[in-house]
Amino acid sequence: MTDSQLTGTIAAAAEKARARDAEDVLAHLRDRFVPAPPGTIYLNGSSLGRLPAATSGRLARMVEEEWGSNLAEARTQWLDLGERIGDSIARHALGAGSGEVVVGECTSVQLYKLAVAAVRARPGRGTIITSDDNFPTDRYILDGVAADHGMNVVTLSTHADTGLDLDALRAALDENVALVSLSLVSYRSSALLDMAEVNQLVHDVGALVLWDLSHAVGAVPIELEATETDLAVGSGYKHLYGGPGAPAFLYVRRGLQDRLRQPVQGWFGHRQQLAMLPAYDPDPTVRRFQTGFPPVLSLTALAEGVGLVGEAGMDAVRAKGLALAELLQDLVAEHLFPVGYTLASPPDARRRGVHLTLRHPEASRLHPLISRADLAIDHMPPDLLRLSTTPLNTRFTDVVEAVDRIRVVTGELLVGGV
Ligand SMILES: *Cc1c(COP(=O)(O)O)cnc(C)c1O
Repeated sequence: MTDSQLTGTIAAAAEKARARDAEDVLAHLRDRFVPAPPGTIYLNGSSLGRLPAATSGRLARMVEEEWGSNLAEARTQWLDLGERIGDSIARHALGAGSGEVVVGECTSVQLYKLAVAAVRARPGRGTIITSDDNFPTDRYILDGVAADHGMNVVTLSTHADTGLDLDALRAALDENVALVSLSLVSYRSSALLDMAEVNQLVHDVGALVLWDLSHAVGAVPIELEATETDLAVGSGYKHLYGGPGAPAFLYVRRGLQDRLRQPVQGWFGHRQQLAMLPAYDPDPTVRRFQTGFPPVLSLTALAEGVGLVGEAGMDAVRAKGLALAELLQDLVAEHLFPVGYTLASPPDARRRGVHLTLRHPEASRLHPLISRADLAIDHMPPDLLRLSTTPLNTRFTDVVEAVDRIRVVTGELLVGGV
């Protein structure tokens, strides 16, 4: 579909959007990604971030030059790659210092390591708190940790569309709570929590906080140090553009590092890794949260994505993210509410990450039709559709075009289907 087919108020919106694209300070970054097939609009970056254009060349050079010809020498350079890329994520996207973040296994395993370390550090306390809009893998991991440690999990009920009410958290907190683990941005509703306030509430009862930043990192500004965050993990394959199965990072506040012990004690966490000593002796720094050889190829890909986020700068990412969100929301209200959609996200864009979730009773019939109209979005059964307007590679005109395609497809289904 081309813009010439847009009519009425949506054509006027497209005109304005073209002007905003022309002024967009992040517009050049779009060309740093491999283009989507012609005519396709990709608004599914909350499931998997797009491929940076330089990643494949960087991987090929890595494989051929470093792995292929420089083996032994390169091996020693790779030993601290998880720490170096961790420092880069910390600086560009987390508001954390160097020596507080390492990259290694998938998010689920990183969460497991830190959850166990946290409950071990609060012996005698019997409760882990999470919420029912936390990502399923997080809930499975926390249930397993609780069972292994004779603890119970309190799962706070959240509002499906607007997320956790902090009064519910306040009411659940007491001195029996060891750990509170929540997502900063809900994968479902996009609801964004107040990190500083949650940290304060949890610290008031002497418990630790473990954040999952998967839908937040690279999407919204994060200040781990300023908010006195204890622990965090986050995915590398959404808004950090590390590719499918990209390794995840973990963060441990510097002052806590030598007091926490993680359960998978491997040689990369040893104080004298290469001395090959018979007994485990954890390194005093963030290195102790590592286990084995870092996934060097995956980290090479992740470095490229993190570099793009650093180039953009999180303030510019947030400013454009809010502008895209406001445009999307206005168009949704005007063109999609009349064909049966409602918001399944907080109505204030400042209280969300970079995705907006819509509810429609026919979502599961609509999703394949929307895909066939060359618009990639996510469907969460039974009735949710998630549109992710990632600031690094989404144009204002893409937003207008996307809403128009959804409007057309939905109109056709409703006319033909009833
Ligand atoms: C994507 C995502 C994960 C991914 O977990 P992996 O173990 O890396 O596959 C975990 N938690 C949240 C909140 C996510 O959005």
